[in-house]
Amino acid sequence: MALSGVEIFKHLPKTNCKKCGHPTCLAFAMKLAAKQASLDACPDASDDAKKILGESAAPPIRDITLGTGDKAVKVGGEICMFRHEKKFFNPNVFAVAIKASEAGDVAAKKIEAVKTSEIDRVGQKLRVDAIAVTDEGGDAAKFAAVVKQVVDGVPGVPLILVSKNPATIEAGIALCADKKPLIYAATAENAEAMAKIAKEKKASLAVFADGLDALTALSEKVKALGVEDLVLDSGARKAKDMIEHFTIMRRAAIKKNFKPLGYPIITFATRDDSVSEAVTAAIGTMKYASIIVLSSVEKWKMLALLSLRQNIYTDPQVPMQVAQNVYKVGDAKDNSPLLITTNFSLSYFIVRGEVENSKVPSWLAVMDNEGLSVLTAWAAGKFTASKIAQFITESGAEKNVSHKELIIPGYVAVLSGALEEKLPGWKITVGPREANQLPTFLKARA
Ligand code: SF4
Repeated sequence: MALSGVEIFKHLPKTNCKKCGHPTCLAFAMKLAAKQASLDACPDASDDAKKILGESAAPPIRDITLGTGDKAVKVGGEICMFRHEKKFFNPNVFAVAIKASEAGDVAAKKIEAVKTSEIDRVGQKLRVDAIAVTDEGGDAAKFAAVVKQVVDGVPGVPLILVSKNPATIEAGIALCADKKPLIYAATAENAEAMAKIAKEKKASLAVFADGLDALTALSEKVKALGVEDLVLDSGARKAKDMIEHFTIMRRAAIKKNFKPLGYPIITFATRDDSVSEAVTAAIGTMKYASIIVLSSVEKWKMLALLSLRQNIYTDPQVPMQVAQNVYKVGDAKDNSPLLITTNFSLSYFIVRGEVENSKVPSWLAVMDNEGLSVLTAWAAGKFTASKIAQFITESGAEKNVSHKELIIPGYVAVLSGALEEKLPGWKITVGPREANQLPTFLKARA
């Protein structure tokens, strides 16, 4: 039963020490009640409080961590149905499947693809997160050989061990027990044996059953066997079934606090046709799958999927921002052009990319406008002549250049006169409206 903010408050230390990042214990209690904070943030919460509040403060979908160290990934922990209600917290994991029969060259190619999968998109590093070693035919030795190849080839990558055979899982987990792998899967036939392994090795455990009723019953059974960190697979593989099952599961967990379905979802998007696979994985990304297993991770596919994931999992209420600074683009010298833009990530990366394309080394002054784009910031009074002048003076931008010329975005040409008044001695040049015109503009001046 969910507790109200006031009821939660009664169990907090009431010292208002602010260590949790909130001004008062009551404010923190309200956040806990809204599932927008974790009790872990209060270092002084008593054991009694943790016991009483644990259930109430826990997110309706349990969060699970796969792997250890800097490559570990957290999934689940979600609190809403739609991202505009709050935001989605833990991006889904993309894992590539390596079959036991692919030991050797094929596995090596997939391992290399994972190692080189990282892309940098609007300042974030995105990559294939995990590898799923999949059993075929119950050959435990072959399975273990691939697990070893992965552990040696990509140290630290989170692992999913896929076999319905407990003996095969035992053989694989012996090589990676310290890496907190996910075991896939407990079924009606093997639940006791799989739960025993998961408990002994402190691994998380996927539960597979065909359909939501069977999954609910099996999830309750495995939890009763003492495994807390569960991941669920309802067997849905067709797009229609995935959307239906995953939406019901999410709704049951979030709206009804229905614990047997309050765990992250795993699905296998593996298809013979790569385009179908990409589409299926995209559906899983948009509709609540936390772990999506793919058969291959070609660059084109991952660029699309990782970009989609990034968009789904950014906070819709907080624009993506870069730090205010004067950035050097190329080998800029003191006579290089000085341009200014706002700190909305997309503005920055697009402008920077076009300045790089021009091959004209430049200085790019990026002003903090709370992540608003140029026109929005201007309309909101955050990119005015006074504020730009103050930024240019206080940021030390003028120390980087021996000239006094500032290139402003064409969309705010209206600011040029006022800026020349606010920055005496400076020449204000109006640049192009669109960033893609910057290469021509800069080259013409060089
Ligand atoms: Fe209160 Fe704990 Fe937050 Fe301190 S850290 S203000 S005691 S809730």
